[in-house]
Amino acid sequence: MAAKKQSVDDPPSVDDSSQDWDSFVTQHGDVEAEAEDIDWKKMAPDEKALARYQRKQDESLEKHAEKWSWMKDKKHKQMFAEIEGRLQGAMGKGSFYWVDRRVFDQVFDRLTLLSIFKLMKKGIIDTVEWPIARGKEAHVFRGEGEEGAIAVKIFHTSNAVFKSLVQYIEGDPRFSGLKRRHRDLVTIWVRKEHRNLIRMHREGLRVPEPIGLLNNVLVMEYIGDAKGPSPKIREIEVEEPQLVYDYLLYFLAVCWQRARLVHADFSPYNILWHDSKPLVIDVGQAVTTQHPRSREFLVRDIERLITWAKSQGLEVTTADALYDILNTDPGELWAEEEE
Ligand code: ADP
Ligand code: MN
Repeated sequence: MAAKKQSVDDPPSVDDSSQDWDSFVTQHGDVEAEAEDIDWKKMAPDEKALARYQRKQDESLEKHAEKWSWMKDKKHKQMFAEIEGRLQGAMGKGSFYWVDRRVFDQVFDRLTLLSIFKLMKKGIIDTVEWPIARGKEAHVFRGEGEEGAIAVKIFHTSNAVFKSLVQYIEGDPRFSGLKRRHRDLVTIWVRKEHRNLIRMHREGLRVPEPIGLLNNVLVMEYIGDAKGPSPKIREIEVEEPQLVYDYLLYFLAVCWQRARLVHADFSPYNILWHDSKPLVIDVGQAVTTQHPRSREFLVRDIERLITWAKSQGLEVTTADALYDILNTDPGELWAEEEE
């Protein structure tokens, strides 16, 4: 390739990752508008350099393995003492059997604690109560915020996982000019999930309302009740699958035609059953329709939906669904019942 490769060993310095989207846009311009000008080939991840960089990071992490010594620093000690009480559930006094020190160590590294601390100062998080789910990429906790229950999604800042996520960020014009340092990838990822939630929520789609973010911590509306999070549609028996299918088709159509997004991980694992209706979560990997692989991701989403629908006894086809999502006015696919 003729173009000079951007060195990931020495990434261009972008200021600290706590910046919000607005200042990001001020700094980098509204990159969304420039999508046409992007040379996609040039943006393909330089895998080797990325791997080399990650290896270096791993080594340096090992070298500095006195992981928790920072907690004893005077400044941090004070901060930690301040938030300790509000992190109780996560620290092992919760009612879930696996809430223990190991979870705490795994999830609450320095950056995370600082981020939570700042979100508490801002009033976005009041308490972090108990873990809802632990995934490969993130842990989700239930907490309390200014206006009630919140879900706090904390992304791991360790290296391994995010390699697989690069494909969804590379190629999305909103995130083009950024350095590839791992932490920044996590931060970008969180920002991406937040932005995607905003775009979908703005179109009136049933997704958790975005509430706030900082670094690797995303705060959104909690979907569930006092007993626990709402179940996934794969865990329940759906009584009127046709209605659910109609809504999910509508959801994908509004995403494509209005929000200009493709969910890209649309599966019965990421659709909750809440207030007797479906609600879609986990939108971090959603890409804009300009993404070079958006159509491929869309077809995959549709195929998953069709598989689910068929398992519910519906007679539907991928071709019809694809046609509707691309062409039919969403209003004809599903209409909110008057209550
Ligand atoms: P991932 O699958 O990448 O780990 P998800 O966003 O799907 O991340 O979240 C993991 C799990 O956490 C979900 O399956 C769901 O059970 C729970 N969860 C996620 N977001 C919320 C929310 N806003 N309210 C309640 N539970 C949530
Ligand atoms: Mn998920």
